[in-house]
Amino acid sequence: MKSAKKPKSILIKNADWLVTMDRQRRILHHSSVYCEGPKIIEIDSKRKKADKIIDAEGMVVLPGFINTHHHLFQTLFRGVDRLKKQPIIPWVRTIAELVRGLDYEAAYTAALTGLAELVLSGCTTCNDFPYFYPEGKNDLFDATVRAAKKIGIRFHPVRGYMEKTSKGIFPDFMTQKREKILSESERVIDQYHDAGNFSMCQVGLGPCGYYSTSPKLFKEICQLARRKKVRLHTHFAETPGEKISILQSAGCLGEDVWLAHVVYVTPRDIDILAKTKTNVCYCPICNMAKKKVAPIIQMAKKKIRIGIGVDGSASNDSSNLLIEGRIAGRLQGLNREITNVSYLRATQILEMLTLGGASCLGRLKFLGSIETGKAADLVLINVSNKLECAGAHNPLEAIFHTGLTRVDHVIVNGKLLVENGNLTTYDLAKLVNNQNSISRKLAKEAEKNLGVSLILDWTPLLKFDN
Ligand SMILES: [Zn+2]
Repeated sequence: MKSAKKPKSILIKNADWLVTMDRQRRILHHSSVYCEGPKIIEIDSKRKKADKIIDAEGMVVLPGFINTHHHLFQTLFRGVDRLKKQPIIPWVRTIAELVRGLDYEAAYTAALTGLAELVLSGCTTCNDFPYFYPEGKNDLFDATVRAAKKIGIRFHPVRGYMEKTSKGIFPDFMTQKREKILSESERVIDQYHDAGNFSMCQVGLGPCGYYSTSPKLFKEICQLARRKKVRLHTHFAETPGEKISILQSAGCLGEDVWLAHVVYVTPRDIDILAKTKTNVCYCPICNMAKKKVAPIIQMAKKKIRIGIGVDGSASNDSSNLLIEGRIAGRLQGLNREITNVSYLRATQILEMLTLGGASCLGRLKFLGSIETGKAADLVLINVSNKLECAGAHNPLEAIFHTGLTRVDHVIVNGKLLVENGNLTTYDLAKLVNNQNSISRKLAKEAEKNLGVSLILDWTPLLKFDN
């Protein structure tokens, strides 16, 4: 009998800084990591041979970053002014007309685009939270799973929904009936959820928000998630007045839940989240549009586990975790009066991007740190050849405070997805072309139906004549 083929190996040697994020938060210097197949086999390895050797002299090696909240389809609608500042009713009209023509190909291309951008910024695991299936196109979910597979990123899609209810503000073609939502939720779990240690796809469930579901269906979805042993996710406290008691009565709190935003919360809400061990996703750029910053330091003090999410183009036009991490740190300075903190340290940002994210997604055992036996998800950044890092006293601080937007190498599940700053799994020029033509087509159709231009909206700021 033929013996099983040995899995491919990668050796990263001579790393200036190897930031492990292990329990002792060790940082090793002039160190190495040896990986075989999907797994880290040895840290500080003395090995000399591997299928692929990366000389990491001058580099910082970090655990892969985890993005815990996104709406990938929205990358098709970047820079649409009417999606950013309108009151809710015209906003709904605009998004409805834009997504009307969304189909499998468009969702696939949008997901490729967002995921490619994320991987190039060091992201190795990503959530997506699609909640519109216009005209019953349930396969939009499947398109994103295919895109993640193509890019090679670890994927955590959540099958979101907007239930057809009498008081809903979305047009009928964007919402779905209870029975369909339940059967589709079950289908995508059965089809795509892999509970394995090094799983590349784990499905979650949840309504867009509690305002988009009846209490009855919300409860049923929570029960279904628990029966199938998958996680729950939803938007919460993005705007004032959202009540945690509604999540409580649906059963949407607990260790297997992570909530996006959590901005408008009271000290009592924070206590409930801490007590139930509910995870939180901090979306800093989106916070800026909400007039308030999530109380991250107050929540961390209560031992709440926090990850970071870029969120979609309705609030953020970039899918970049280096940018998001930088803003995540700086923005907490606005809470200074309460917390006496002017910004978060790079190590604190990194904790949220790695261990915090892994906790949100229920993957702490195998993701979030560089340790023997964990997944081979690694990011390498050369800090010795970049203008932004020149003169930096601490390379780790330089990564998150100087404005870097791209990393040098990214390994996911033992595979090199980014090499010398280039994506290895997809032709970016082709992707940009496809994305542009689909986005234009959707915008054109929407403009026709709305009777307005989505591009020209010239609003001057400076009140003087030149
Ligand atoms: Zn969102």
